[in-house]
Amino acid sequence: MFDVIVIGGGVIGGTILRELTKYKLNVCLLEKENDVCMGQSKANSGIVHAGFDAVPGTLKAKFNVLGNRMMPAYAEELGVKFVNNGSLVVAFSDKEMQTLQALKERGEANGVTDMEILSQAELRELEKNISDEAVGALHAKTGGIVCPYGLTIAAIGNAMDNGAKLYTDFEVVSIEKNGEVFSVRSAYGEEVKGKLIIDCAGQGSGKIAELAGDDTVKIGARKGEYILLDRESGDFVSHTLFFTPTEKGKGILVTPTADGNILLGPTSEEQATPCTDTTAQGLAFVIEKVRKMSKNPPLYNTITSFAGVRAYSDRHDFIIEESKKVEGLILCVGIESPGLTSAPAIAKFVVEELVGNKFVLEKNEAFHGRREAEYFFKHLSIEEKNKIIQKDPSYGKIVCRCEQITEGEILRAIRENPPAKNIDAVKRRTRSGMGRCQGGFCQPFVAELIARENGIALEEVTKNGKGSNLVTGVSK
Ligand SMILES: Cc1cc2nc3c(=O)[nH]c(=O)nc-3n(C[C@H](O)[C@H](O)[C@H](O)COP(=O)(O)OP(=O)(O)OC[C@H]3O[C@@H](n4cnc5c(N)ncnc54)[C@H](O)[C@@H]3O)c2cc1C
Repeated sequence: MFDVIVIGGGVIGGTILRELTKYKLNVCLLEKENDVCMGQSKANSGIVHAGFDAVPGTLKAKFNVLGNRMMPAYAEELGVKFVNNGSLVVAFSDKEMQTLQALKERGEANGVTDMEILSQAELRELEKNISDEAVGALHAKTGGIVCPYGLTIAAIGNAMDNGAKLYTDFEVVSIEKNGEVFSVRSAYGEEVKGKLIIDCAGQGSGKIAELAGDDTVKIGARKGEYILLDRESGDFVSHTLFFTPTEKGKGILVTPTADGNILLGPTSEEQATPCTDTTAQGLAFVIEKVRKMSKNPPLYNTITSFAGVRAYSDRHDFIIEESKKVEGLILCVGIESPGLTSAPAIAKFVVEELVGNKFVLEKNEAFHGRREAEYFFKHLSIEEKNKIIQKDPSYGKIVCRCEQITEGEILRAIRENPPAKNIDAVKRRTRSGMGRCQGGFCQPFVAELIARENGIALEEVTKNGKGSNLVTGVSK
């Protein structure tokens, strides 16, 4: 019997799980996919927003600013890359310059510090590739970038190292409550029991609430398509560049990523059924906007495109509260942007306030919050590399040529918490397959390592879970 069952292995479920392990609680995480971080948390812009966007008084405004303040130390503790690159909201007319002033005032009302309005000349100083049409910008110095899947995986891994249990391939299909105890069943008939449920299932959170007996949660889907440029173009911009927002939202951005790529997007399309396909039309729109924002964007360095789907609530704010219909069901739903930024602050609030309402929170003195940094071998000095290879020769073998990822790093991803069980899971942890050839060279080697480490046949190794097997048998 668990004290707390968290449903949904995204950044919200992951950071909450980790926060729970700071206390003497028996906790688990249920995730329907073969790996964690398979929803919005793996396909977003990775921006740690400063907090000038959200309407003052909303949960978005409160948790954005708190999360922004917490993120540098939080990421450092978990060994995840965070870069305080600052953001620029760019104006293309005098009218937009006035909007920037209003945005700055809104930010100040939300508690954002270190903002300034830049003239055209000052903007050019900061970004050499900015369009000649740009007339000024709002500079938010506290804006940053973080690796979203790195953060989610590290939070869940650290929670597991501190005693939390993870169930993957556990799609919740039924929830029953008998007295004070919830029985949660998966599509494969497994069952876990617990006293409290935290619904962090993103796009699936309406269904989870309904299964538990609360039919009030309505979640919409809005797709965002992206283009990713190779690290070769990594210095095209150094800040995150936003258009001045309209009533339709923040629009397309141009930003470096924490891993040194350039990210362009996202679009914003309402969807009846969530779908992560990219479209020629969506990507053309991204390109049109990027050309308006910047001079000669190096689109020839495009290595991939992808899409994420925002799960928003009909309240158009985060819903973070105990269900009014089902006692013991905590809702963390409708967590669209700035959910990544807000995650550490949401997790702290949920555990200290909402879980703390149900249990006497006793400190887990054995909690160890640090996680070894996701060091990439290629960034080490020759001396450091030699030292590691002497201890473990697998670090002397390069598996992914584009990103220079070693066998040692891949083995670490397969072995440490949460274990990478498929090829994309290895990719998210190590960047093997994220370079120019997008896995064309390294995939077979990664598949062999997964098979060897798990004692399974190559035919059983999948790209991203059930039904995505790569090898069907011997052809010659
Ligand atoms: C295009 C886009 C851009 C964004 N950009 C930013 C940004 O730059 N900065 C920022 O702060 N925020 C951004 N966000 C928002 C941020 O990504 C989300 O707020 C955050 O990832 C939400 O995390 P989550 O854990 O709630 O949901 P998710 O990451 O979607 O996780 C939900 C999990 O629940 C699982 N699940 C669903 N149903 C079930 C079930 N029945 N049983 C078991 N498991 C289930 C899913 O498989 C999934 O893993 C963006 C979002 C999108 C889509």
